[in-house]
Amino acid sequence: MEQVLELKHIHYSYHTLDGETPALVDISFSVEKGEFIAIVGPSGCGKTTLLSLISGLLIPERGLIKINGKYLTESTTNVGYMLQHDELFEWRTIYHNVVLGLEIQHMMTAKTRQRAHELLDFYGLKQFKNSRPSELSGGMRQRAALIRTLVLEPDLLLLDEPFSALDYQTRLNVGDDIGQILRREKKSAVLVTHDLSEAISLADRVIILSKRPASILQTIPLVFDLDEDTPLNRRNAPEFKTYFQLIWKELNANE
Ligand code: ADP
Repeated sequence: MEQVLELKHIHYSYHTLDGETPALVDISFSVEKGEFIAIVGPSGCGKTTLLSLISGLLIPERGLIKINGKYLTESTTNVGYMLQHDELFEWRTIYHNVVLGLEIQHMMTAKTRQRAHELLDFYGLKQFKNSRPSELSGGMRQRAALIRTLVLEPDLLLLDEPFSALDYQTRLNVGDDIGQILRREKKSAVLVTHDLSEAISLADRVIILSKRPASILQTIPLVFDLDEDTPLNRRNAPEFKTYFQLIWKELNANE
């Protein structure tokens, strides 16, 4: 299998006037092409720090990160980031929000424009291309934010609690929806979340982090015996509860 992402023995501490705060200790894992990984752990344990390292915003103190076989510093791989808030601009229409990344990266061509239209049409935003973000529901906005990331054709997507600003019911629907879009588009993704159900319904593997400074407590492959492996079907499958209890126990044992 091709590895999109590889982390080996990553250590990271924050240095402030008050002293040193160790955040990550000896983190190693990899993500195969097309694989969806969820990282769970208590609030404040170091999940966002981990994504910031993978996206190159922070530099590890020790260890190495490779993307598509190349060191992060030499990699030209396109990494997409999806955050808690959709960060859509009200002064732009949905279409113009979706192509913003293409504009910034000087990637606006007939082909990329067409791809933006195709994704908007396919994922139910056809009638909203000329609407402003405030005219859309939270779920539709999050879809638009995802499409803005997808038109850049990222090889790897980093998702930082992307559904946590939504109310519970919307969150379930949008989480399932976005999970299916990513599967259909065969994207490799790393999702960080403190929501165990979200992780279990979406991922191929769950990595459990300890409290800060985070180290990996356990990695759990998720296998569901389902005809149609969708997030919703997973939530209703008997394996769901088993995985939930397993991960819950592991997290609480570390408290
Ligand atoms: P999580 O995403 O799991 O909630 P973070 O990665 O945001 O956790 O933060 C991990 C820990 O690192 C926090 O508990 C905090 O103490 C520390 N931290 C985060 N950002 C900074 C910073 N800019 N300066 C100093 N310490 C920080």
